[in-house]
Amino acid sequence: MRAVEPEVHLIARPDFDYDEVAAYLKEVGGESWLERVDRGELDDAQNLAEFAGRICYRSWEPGLNPNVSRVRTDQAQYLQNILSSAHGSVLEHVNFSFVLHNVSRVTTHELVRHRAGVAVSQESLRFVRLDDLPFWFPEWARADPELMRRATDLLEQMEQFQGWMAEHFGLDDEGVKFAEKKAKTSFMRRFAPEGLATGLVWTANVRTLRHVIENRTAPGAEEEIRIVLGKVGELMVREAPALFGDYTVEDGAWVPGWRKV
Ligand SMILES: Cc1cc2nc3c(=O)[nH]c(=O)nc-3n(C[C@H](O)[C@H](O)[C@H](O)COP(=O)(O)OP(=O)(O)OC[C@H]3O[C@@H](n4cnc5c(N)ncnc54)[C@H](O)[C@@H]3O)c2cc1C
Repeated sequence: MRAVEPEVHLIARPDFDYDEVAAYLKEVGGESWLERVDRGELDDAQNLAEFAGRICYRSWEPGLNPNVSRVRTDQAQYLQNILSSAHGSVLEHVNFSFVLHNVSRVTTHELVRHRAGVAVSQESLRFVRLDDLPFWFPEWARADPELMRRATDLLEQMEQFQGWMAEHFGLDDEGVKFAEKKAKTSFMRRFAPEGLATGLVWTANVRTLRHVIENRTAPGAEEEIRIVLGKVGELMVREAPALFGDYTVEDGAWVPGWRKV
């Protein structure tokens, strides 16, 4: 048994191509928008969301669309208006990818229920053989010596059984076909606990992120997934403050200023 902590690594974020955008804006007008926006390392996500929003009304600058005589020039205010008016579809262009490491099958099973706006690649325990059983214990469990002793004994027994089965099935013998290893590895995972820590790459767009952060940090949500989505929320506030700055966090629950975006 190996005690682990759930980890969240942000591994990919939007990469806005300013040259291509400039070529497009030259064609339709509105190049002044590009002069207004910041181009720092972390500005691409918000610029992409703003760009996608502005194409709807051709509102790069006043007059491009005769119906638009004034435009908001402050990005934070512009994006706040997107959130407050629930114009969330433009946020679907903005995707972030995370590695969720050492998260249990309890958490991954709940996370994959969110279907809209996500992509998932999960470690396959049909292929990846278990040798040790990484496991997360909440703080309150760690403070209970008898619970820890019994839980650790049980996990170690399960771990030994994994090793015994691998040997019994001769999985490491010369010439064992991969299909046979796969079939037996899949059988063996049935004897691993649902609390087993594993991992996945999880990609979600900003609209989905807002929904899932709220849903899965709510007081009624499961303990570990609340921690994981809280970490995602913290990362997102740093990445795109104008798109995630409306939350208030109380006892780990992320409550958005604008719901159902
Ligand atoms: C605290 C908590 C307890 C839960 N308990 C249980 C439980 O006991 N049993 C259980 O089975 N599940 C349970 N769930 C899971 C829950 O029922 C949802 O499946 C899960 O939260 C996914 O959310 P979502 O339906 O909003 O889907 P998402 O895929 O996140 O979709 C986002 C939004 O898009 C829209 N949408 C997505 N798909 C469709 C569609 N097909 N048709 C129309 N609109 C769509 C909806 O507005 C939806 O809210 C629980 C979830 C939470 C947070």
